[in-house]
Amino acid sequence: MRAVNPATGETVATYQEHTDEEVEQRLTTAQETFEEWSDRSIREREELLANAADVLRENKQKYGEIMTKEMGKPISQAIAEVEKCAWACDHYAEHAGAYLETEQFPSPPGSEVRTVHDPLGTVLAVMPWNYPFWQVIRFAAPYLTAGNVGVLKHASNVPGCAVALQEVFEKAGYPEGAFQSLLVSSSKVDDILADDRVKAATLTGSGPAGRAVAETAGEQLKKTVLELGGSDPFVVLDDADLAGAVEKGVLARTLNGGQSCIAAKRFIVHEDVYDEYVDRMVSAFEDLHVGDPMDETTDVGAQADPDLMAELHEQVQQSVDAGATVLTGGEPLDRDGAFYPPTVLTNVPEGCPADAEETFGPVASLYKVEDEQEAIQKANDTRYGLGASLWTADRDRGRRLARDIDAGCVYVNEMTKSDPRVPFGGIEDAGYGRELSEAGIKEFVNRKTVWIQ
Ligand code: NDP
Repeated sequence: MRAVNPATGETVATYQEHTDEEVEQRLTTAQETFEEWSDRSIREREELLANAADVLRENKQKYGEIMTKEMGKPISQAIAEVEKCAWACDHYAEHAGAYLETEQFPSPPGSEVRTVHDPLGTVLAVMPWNYPFWQVIRFAAPYLTAGNVGVLKHASNVPGCAVALQEVFEKAGYPEGAFQSLLVSSSKVDDILADDRVKAATLTGSGPAGRAVAETAGEQLKKTVLELGGSDPFVVLDDADLAGAVEKGVLARTLNGGQSCIAAKRFIVHEDVYDEYVDRMVSAFEDLHVGDPMDETTDVGAQADPDLMAELHEQVQQSVDAGATVLTGGEPLDRDGAFYPPTVLTNVPEGCPADAEETFGPVASLYKVEDEQEAIQKANDTRYGLGASLWTADRDRGRRLARDIDAGCVYVNEMTKSDPRVPFGGIEDAGYGRELSEAGIKEFVNRKTVWIQ
């Protein structure tokens, strides 16, 4: 397995793939560890998670650099990602016990009825490269603290992150086998998932990968959580705070090089403020510093992979062929490395790639609408339903329209983001299940009803 720096094309490091025997050994270790780990008190598991938060903070520069070198995100954002991981660990170190407290019910006379939360066993996590630390900690912090153990199949282009994440848990004092990285290709996932010792799976990534895992898990009747793509709307109404909507809109589209499932992708703007919004957005896009991801002043680093960048550019070109107008960007930068400039498209025809597909890079599609009704209709005109952002000075209007948007979360006057305190996930082609908060930790437990007469 080879990690290649997308900013330079140079090999960062090579890793030996795990053989079938090594995978087998790790699954056995996971199973044995589960017997012991699930018996520990939740307090003990919370304490270890607090240690993991410390390890992350102490090593944020080192872990940030591994991410930046493997997938091209700006170093400042990589370090912020490690800090966010530490926050999620702190969150569950403080709240996991309360989230999993026994639930009491009004009991029929002479009986005592309650629900307890038992862990399931080994959870397989298939994770992507875009937030190589966050996506992993987002599953590991709650699920391990609930008493499960985890095996990680990370994306093939971030093996150094996979190894470093295992190190986080080892340094924090977790028993061997509580969290293990499997350095394997995606062709091995089916067999691992079908193994009796694996009880459930969580996947973050593309629709095809999600469907493949769901199919195997379905055959085996194993629970899954899927966090797939998005084509999030960013709706700007006539009464919106335009400065805020531009500032957050630009960030929501270009953070992480635009490679985020919850990035704002379709900007739906009321006609009264459309021209001004477009002008300000183009100028803000052109002010962004695109370049060396190791430079702390960089806003947009390299795209994670030259092939994925070529796919993004193909989507832009097909959209232009279909009638879209490029106001800025639109061509890969003429330099070494996978660099794509922040790009604004207008006159985006219905059904072209920039309209109907997920664009995983800094490409914004802008639409002009006549009124709020048309805005909501356009916002919902997607097969994804992950996040949405809506801008209006009238909070009641925001509250009302949020109900009309088909998505897993709606942020009014704020960009869509994931936060350990609140549920995160989508509907339709964006996947199912919820991560984070109390909802997340309860996805992979047996909510066991105990009736005592
Ligand atoms: P993938 O969905 O292919 O990869 C995500 C993870 O799934 C990786 O660990 C990958 O392993 C694994 N995987 C891929 N195919 C299968 C399969 N058939 N069975 C089991 N596991 C599988 O994402 P890509 O990196 O190819 O990116 C393609 C597109 O996916 C992006 O352009 C974007 O649209 C979307 N995406 C969405 C993400 C999100 O956050 N929702 C994150 C990443 C991508 P391996 O790397 O070994 O192939």
